[in-house]
Amino acid sequence: MAGRLQGKVAVITGGVSGIGLGTVELFAAEGCQVVAADIQDEKGRMLEQRFPGQVRYAHCDVTSEAEIAAALGLAKSEFGGLDILFNNAGISDSMRLIPEIEADRWSWIFDLLVRGPALGMKHAMPLMLERGGGSIINTASIAGLQAGWGPIAYSSAKAAVIHLSRCAAAQLSPQKIRVNAICPGLIATSIFGASFGLPREVADQMAARIVEHAPTVQPVPKAGMPEDIAQAALYLASDASAFVSGTHIVVDGGITVGARHAW
Ligand code: NAD
Repeated sequence: MAGRLQGKVAVITGGVSGIGLGTVELFAAEGCQVVAADIQDEKGRMLEQRFPGQVRYAHCDVTSEAEIAAALGLAKSEFGGLDILFNNAGISDSMRLIPEIEADRWSWIFDLLVRGPALGMKHAMPLMLERGGGSIINTASIAGLQAGWGPIAYSSAKAAVIHLSRCAAAQLSPQKIRVNAICPGLIATSIFGASFGLPREVADQMAARIVEHAPTVQPVPKAGMPEDIAQAALYLASDASAFVSGTHIVVDGGITVGARHAW
């Protein structure tokens, strides 16, 4: 049986680690050709070696419009076009109160988490038009739906990503481009710690704590892993979701519904 993304080409930002890496692996297994766009060049080169001819790495800081355009251009020059864009690159931030947060910090977080995906869509659109349509998926967060799950600038930016996805879905529907967001819950990746400038071991310990603790409080008693989000991205990328646009899918083990009943 042909893979569910056979013949498709995707660009995945933040593609060498965590959720992005899990999605590169799943999309590749489903027959997709992928450009993994990230700023960790060493990991990117290793990823290319794992999937010769199927995955290319592009150095792409999503705060740079030129680098975003170049990564999308690589999909066209290397694989002939673009069908899927997964705007997923991101960082977290330290938990601080509003009076403590510098103006520049707000700008940087919004540049990375909101302007990055918006510019990705801008440069993906002409390429998707050449293919008669496409699917754009933006990684938001449960922090964009409810207060208290993340730092305030990060959470505000993720809320903006959810609405950006709705607005873009409305704008791009005549071009047959679908746009949706995914709101992950607590997923065991290196985002916790790495973004705070903490040592690698501390980041790993924080991820391990999610694996250990989250299943005891969330309704679904398993740790959230990158593959769980990759499966949602696969659905939104594939023709199985042909009638789905302008919405968000919450993939959080039920944690935003409420605590797990202990009896
Ligand atoms: P991760 O740290 O494992 O992966 C993030 C990737 O983004 C890394 O490869 C990193 O190098 C890349 N990146 C960071 N800044 C970049 C930039 N300026 N340009 C290009 N790439 C950049 O973390 P993750 O958990 O896989 O995060 C992926 C996305 O999921 C992020 O948008 C994050 O906000 C979101 N998210 C994560 C969780 C969670 O619990 N892990 C929950 C909700 C949302």
